[in-house]
Amino acid sequence: MTFFQYHAGELHAEHVPVSQIAKQFGTPAYVYSRAAIEHQWHSLDTAFGDYPHTICYAVKANSNIAVLNLLAQMGSGFDIVSEGELRRVLLAGGDPRKVVFSGVAKSTGELEFAMRNKVRSINIESVAELHRVQAVAASLDVVAAIAIRVNPNVDPETHPYISTGMDKAKFGVTMEAAFEAYQLAAKMPNIEVHGIACHIGSQITKTSPFTDALSIVLDMVKRLRDVGIQIQQLDLGGGLGINYHGETPPSAQEYVDGMLASVREHGVDLPIAIEPGRYIVGNSGIMLTQVEYLKHNQSKRFAIVDAGMNDLLRPALYQAYHEIIPVAEQSTSPIEQYDVVGPVCESADVLGYDRELSVKSGDLLAVCSAGAYGHVMSNQYNSRPKPPELMVDGDQVHVIRRRETHDELTLAESLLP
Ligand SMILES: *Cc1c(COP(=O)(O)O)cnc(C)c1O
Repeated sequence: MTFFQYHAGELHAEHVPVSQIAKQFGTPAYVYSRAAIEHQWHSLDTAFGDYPHTICYAVKANSNIAVLNLLAQMGSGFDIVSEGELRRVLLAGGDPRKVVFSGVAKSTGELEFAMRNKVRSINIESVAELHRVQAVAASLDVVAAIAIRVNPNVDPETHPYISTGMDKAKFGVTMEAAFEAYQLAAKMPNIEVHGIACHIGSQITKTSPFTDALSIVLDMVKRLRDVGIQIQQLDLGGGLGINYHGETPPSAQEYVDGMLASVREHGVDLPIAIEPGRYIVGNSGIMLTQVEYLKHNQSKRFAIVDAGMNDLLRPALYQAYHEIIPVAEQSTSPIEQYDVVGPVCESADVLGYDRELSVKSGDLLAVCSAGAYGHVMSNQYNSRPKPPELMVDGDQVHVIRRRETHDELTLAESLLP
């Protein structure tokens, strides 16, 4: 979290004291650093050197149009999983020719929208989908470029809920089925075989699962070559992990070097696309929250804060660990062990268990590493308006999504006649 540091005892986002942001915009609130996002994207981009590559940022990690716009300006491509995400990319000035479309359940309407906008690749996740893509392309009288998302059955050694590349996952096509699917695709009149894709999971903190998967993918590329099917792009998915709490994921350079060594070893030096999400935005954001009450019983102390699982779902959904740190470094309150809990009426509404904190009512806390799968997963459960998203750029703070109002919560609803 290099762009979120203490200066003179006060947590800053770039050059702005976080307490000032809380005062101006209230809590809970998401705060992102522009410099952090750009730094992360560049670290991957430069790691490839002059090897042909496209970084297709995984929109689902953080889909705010200001974030997408920053990345589009740097020349990023995008990995999307819905029509809604493609609409965001277009609104943000992204180039559809650098868009890859993933997802197991693409509807006819979504495929039409993607083809009309000429995305680079539709990443097919089943033979049934391949038939639908052919039919949709024929109905629009276009040729759709596709990749087949293969499932290399590699264990990414991460949480089961974010593990996607094993045989028991709903994602992708097994290697054997993929070989046949490619031969089928090659005969379809409205399909152009463009690439091969794989994405084995998320928050991966070792290089070996990536290179193991890649090696299986490269074997398939060679097998396809032998039957006359030429793959033009390797799409190696996302999944590079970040440091939430003492993890030591590979650096961008180590991650990319591993891939490049593997493609050179196999003699398959095709252009590479990657689909990083978390790596780019995860540590580029925090969620600010304020302590409402302290409470204790015989066995537990609770710091009850104004942000809940509806604002940041990851701890409840994945047992994810987010560091929770005070905005003011020094405090006169005694250090105690707290469960940091939110206002939502669910026992799972815990942002962190057993945290050593010195806090009192009114203190501000920062929930770290909240830039990825944070606001995008927020919801209005318990009729709680969604928090704002703020982007710090140097000494400026920009509202990139204002706080939702109570009126908006019921806007789409109506009474019976
Ligand atoms: C979620 C997802 C990604 C991004 O994963 P990260 O772990 O955030 O890098 C990339 N590709 C696909 C197909 C995904 O579903």
